[in-house]
Amino acid sequence: MAPRVTGNSGQNLALRAIGSFASHIVTASKGVSNLIVPQLCAACGIEIGPDSDELCGSCWMELSALVAVPHCNGCGDDARPYLLIDGQCTRCRFKRRPFDVFIRVGRYTGALRSLVLRFKRHFILDRLLGRLLRDALAGKLELSDIDHWVPIPSHWRRRLWRGFQPTSLLTRAAIPKGAGTAESLLTMTRYVPPFHHKMSSRDRSKAIAGAFRMARGTVVRGGTVLIIDDVSTTGATLREAARVVRAAGASRVVVAVIARSVWGA
Ligand SMILES: [Zn+2]
Ligand SMILES: [Zn+2]
Repeated sequence: MAPRVTGNSGQNLALRAIGSFASHIVTASKGVSNLIVPQLCAACGIEIGPDSDELCGSCWMELSALVAVPHCNGCGDDARPYLLIDGQCTRCRFKRRPFDVFIRVGRYTGALRSLVLRFKRHFILDRLLGRLLRDALAGKLELSDIDHWVPIPSHWRRRLWRGFQPTSLLTRAAIPKGAGTAESLLTMTRYVPPFHHKMSSRDRSKAIAGAFRMARGTVVRGGTVLIIDDVSTTGATLREAARVVRAAGASRVVVAVIARSVWGA
């Protein structure tokens, strides 16, 4: 049988979502506030008109191009320059994969990188990023099949310092109305310092090994678990989280991120 090459319905959905954002008319109250404070593009910071939604035209175009790049369902890397076979790149087709599906909005670069950085620094744009993530998810799986929406946890010291957990905000924003709630099924057993961007995959895996456990009293046996993070570089954090969830009996583990980064870049 000829191998099936997956379509890009996820990208199409996300592109449609971007189109609707771009054409969205802001509310009257927002219009009034713009008389006092000019609205700025959330990605590049240039002044934008009152009818624009979050981004300037060129950043929407850049974001559309980033979202349109097909990615491997196994590792989230760009498909190019090769074709995906059954949704997977050559590396993922021939090895045991830690996740059933890897979903991303786009590559960690350009306008998408700017949005993620602003989100992480200023705790804003979660609704915009959540919606992009939801549309990326909807193109790859039935959202009603997800039994548990699980954000990658932060250590309590970090939560205390920040006052919130970014992945929880993202997860809440990504869940369609009535489709579930963000569940803190995973907790961190110890503090893991942020990874240096040039840290190898092996060192990251060592650093994060054993850092997660299932929260007391949680049951995922037989269910589909979706684990959400903001950015994935080597996938070490997601792999460890998936391992714990699978060991607890989940039958299907899907991971989703806003952006997939490139190691060492
Ligand atoms: Zn812009
Ligand atoms: Zn792959």
